[in-house]
Amino acid sequence: PVDRSPEVQEARLKLPVLAEEQVIMEAVRENPSIVICGETGSGKTTQVPQFLYEAGYASGGRMIGITEPRRVAAVSMSHRVAKEMNLPTQVVSYQIRYEGNVTSDTKIKFMTDGVLLKEIQKDFLLQKYSAIIIDEAHERSVYTDILIGLLSRIVPLRNKKGMPMKLLIMSATLRVEDFTENQRLFRTPPPVIKVDARQFPVTIHFNKRTPLEDYTGEAFHKTCKIHRMLPPGGILVFLTGQAEVHSLCRRLRKAFPFRKGDTLKMRKPKPQSQLFKKYILSTSSLPRIDLDNYSALPVDEGDEDREAGIGDEEDGDSDLDLGDDPADAEEKADASIPLYVLPLYSLLAPEQQAKVFRPPPPGTRLCVIATNVAETSLTIPGIKYVVDCGRVKKRFYDKVTGVSSFKVTWTSQASANQRAGRAGRTEPGHCYRLYSSAVFGDFALFSEAEITRRPVEDLVLQMKDLNIEKVVNFPFPTPPSTEVLVAAEQLLVSLGALEEPPCTGRLKDMQRAKLSCPITPLGRAMASFPVAPRYAKMLALGKQQDCLPYVIAVVAAMTVREIFEDLDRPARSEDESSKLNQRRARLTQMRRLWAGQGASLLLGDLMIMLGAVGACEFAGCTPRFCENSGLRYKAMVEIRKLRGQLTNAVNAVCPEVGVFVDPKMTPPTEHQVVCLRQIVLAGLGDHLARRAQGEDLVDPKWKNAYKTPLMDEPVFIHPNSALFKTLPEFVVYQEVMETSKMYMRGVSAVEAEWVP
Ligand code: ADP
Ligand code: MG
Repeated sequence: PVDRSPEVQEARLKLPVLAEEQVIMEAVRENPSIVICGETGSGKTTQVPQFLYEAGYASGGRMIGITEPRRVAAVSMSHRVAKEMNLPTQVVSYQIRYEGNVTSDTKIKFMTDGVLLKEIQKDFLLQKYSAIIIDEAHERSVYTDILIGLLSRIVPLRNKKGMPMKLLIMSATLRVEDFTENQRLFRTPPPVIKVDARQFPVTIHFNKRTPLEDYTGEAFHKTCKIHRMLPPGGILVFLTGQAEVHSLCRRLRKAFPFRKGDTLKMRKPKPQSQLFKKYILSTSSLPRIDLDNYSALPVDEGDEDREAGIGDEEDGDSDLDLGDDPADAEEKADASIPLYVLPLYSLLAPEQQAKVFRPPPPGTRLCVIATNVAETSLTIPGIKYVVDCGRVKKRFYDKVTGVSSFKVTWTSQASANQRAGRAGRTEPGHCYRLYSSAVFGDFALFSEAEITRRPVEDLVLQMKDLNIEKVVNFPFPTPPSTEVLVAAEQLLVSLGALEEPPCTGRLKDMQRAKLSCPITPLGRAMASFPVAPRYAKMLALGKQQDCLPYVIAVVAAMTVREIFEDLDRPARSEDESSKLNQRRARLTQMRRLWAGQGASLLLGDLMIMLGAVGACEFAGCTPRFCENSGLRYKAMVEIRKLRGQLTNAVNAVCPEVGVFVDPKMTPPTEHQVVCLRQIVLAGLGDHLARRAQGEDLVDPKWKNAYKTPLMDEPVFIHPNSALFKTLPEFVVYQEVMETSKMYMRGVSAVEAEWVP
C-alpha cells in the first residue's frame, strides 16, 4: 500500500491517466507489450510506474524500470514520484550516465535510455526488471528506438523462460505506427491505449509577419504585451538555445523588475487599456482549436487574427492582439507589475530547473523562457500563454564528411502543436506563434527519427557486442540508411574493433561482408567503456608509458559538452563590455598557462583540457574556482564523475593496471605527451588535416587553412585554439564545426612520420 499525502491524492485525481488505470493494468496483464498515448501533462510518467508498483510489479525482488531520453526528466521525475509515493530515494531512484542514487532497495528506477542499453549488454534478459517503460517514445531518440527493437526480442524470450516481463511504450502523440504497424518489431501489434487528455482549448494566434532574424526580439515584445494586457496566468516562451534564453531573461527582468523584497506587495490593479478591453471583447470570435482533435493544418490560410475580427482601424494596426509592433514603451522599466522570469534548458543546474515547478512569489506572474525541454518532457504548472518562435536548434551531420553544425531550423507541425498544448493544461489558454500560418503550413508534419540523422558507429559497436552481427537485419523502428551503416562498420574496422571484411568473392558477397564484420576482442573491451568508439580506442591504448590517468582525464574532458566558457560571447550590456574584455584577457592567459610550453604545447587543445581538469581537481572542483577560471561547473562535475567511472571500467577490463584517480595529478612528462599525441591519433586517425601548401596557396581562401581527405573546402584552426599561432603541418581534430567558417575543434599536432 502506498501512503500518499492528501494534497498528492487530490492532485493525482485530476490527472486524466488515473481514469484509465483499470484499462491500462488489464492490458498489461493480458499482453506482453502495450502502447500508451496521452498528451503531455496527462500523468503518464509520474503515474504509470505507480500503477505497476501497486499492482505488485516491484515485488519478488524485481524492479520497474523507466527510460527517458533526457537526463533532466530522469532526475526530476524520480524525485517527483518518490515524493508522491512518500518513499525515500533509495526506493524510487534514478541513474544517468555517471550519477545516480540506486540502492539494493530500489523498486522504481528512472534512467536515461543509454543506461538501459548498457545494462542489456551486461544481462541481455534484464532479469532485474519485471517491467520496462519506454517513455517519450515519440521523441524517437536513437537509444529509445534501439531499445524498442531489443525489447521486442527480450520480452518473448523472458516469457519463454517462464519469467515474464512487461513492456510499456509511452508516447505524447498518437503517431505510433512505426512501432505498432512494424511487423519486424511486433508480429502481433500491441494494443494502443489512448488517454483522454482533458485538454482545454488553446486559441492559436499566428503572426502576420514572420520575423526572419530577430525572433528573440519579437518574443520579447509579445511577452511584454501579454504581461501588460492579459489576465493572470503563466507565460512559457520557446526559444532555441541557452544564449537566447539568457538574453531574453535579462531583457524581461529589466523591463519588469522583481526584487525578492517585493513579494508581499500585491500587484497594483492597472487601468485596463483600450487594447485590453478590445481584446476581451473579441476573444469569443477567435478560432478555438481543441488540441484533442485538432487537424495538423491551420483552419484558415492567411492572417487569422485579422479575419477573426481583432483588427482595428483607429489604431492603424490590424494585428492588435499583441501584434508585431516593436517600438513601444516596453523598454522602460515598470516595477509595478513584477514578472518572475526563469530560464529552463537542459544544461541548467538542477536546483535552478526545479524552480519552475514551484509557485511564483505572490503578486508576480511566472514567465519561463525555455528550449525544447519544455515541449514534452517537463510539464510546468499554471501556464496559460505560450509564445512559440517556431524554431528548434538541431545538430546536423554531413553524411560524407562527418562535419557537424548546429542549425536553427523550423520545427515540425507536431512539435508546434505540442508547444501550443502547454497553454491548455489548467484552463483555456493562448498560443502566440511568431510566424504566419502560411509558414506553419510549410513545416514538416513530424520531426524525423534521430537515428536517420546522425552517425551510428557507437550503436553498431554496441550491437555487435550484443552478438548482433548483421546490424542491417536489426528490427529498427526506422532503419538508418545502408550507406550510414557501412560507414560505421568501416570506421570500427579501422579502429580495430571489428575484423576486416574479406576482400575476395563476388562483389555482392563483399558488400554483404562489409555489413557483417565480427567483433574483435579489442572491440569487446571498447564496447565496455561508456564513451564513443574513438575515445574507447584511446582508453584501450592508454596503458603505455603510464599514460592511462591522462588518457582518462582527456577522454572525460573530450566527451563532456561545453566545458569552457565561450570567450566570444557578446557583452550583455554596455557596462559589461569593459569588464568582459578584462575577463577574456585573463581567461585567455589562464588557458595559455594550461596549454603549457614546448613539447606539451603540441598536444594543443587537449592539453588545455588536461590542464583545466588537473587544476580544477587540485582546487577541489568548487563552483568558485570554475567561475573564476571560465569553466562550466556542471561540466567539471560531470568530468569528475566520468573519470571515476572510466577508471573503474578500465580496471575491470584490465585489473593489472591498477589505475586510480589522483586529485593531485602532475602534468605529463615530455615523453608522455608524445605518447598521448600518438594515442589521440589512433582514435582520431580519420580526422587528420594537413596544412595547405604549394599551388593551393595562390588562392587566398587557403591562407592558414588545412586540407582534409573528405572535404574540398578549407578548414581552420580557431583563434582560441592553443595551436592557432603554431599552425603545425599535420593535426588531428575532434570535429569540424561550421560556424562563421569551418573550424576544427579539439586540435592536437601530429608528427609527419606518424602519418600512415
Ligand atoms: P506526462 O508524462 O503525461 O506528460 P507527467 O506525469 O509528467 O505527465 O505530469 C503529470 C503532472 O504532474 C503535471 O500536471 C505536472 O505539472 C505535475 N508534475 C510533474 N513533475 C512535477 C514536479 N516536480 N513538481 C510539481 N508537479 C509536477
Ligand atoms: Mg512524461
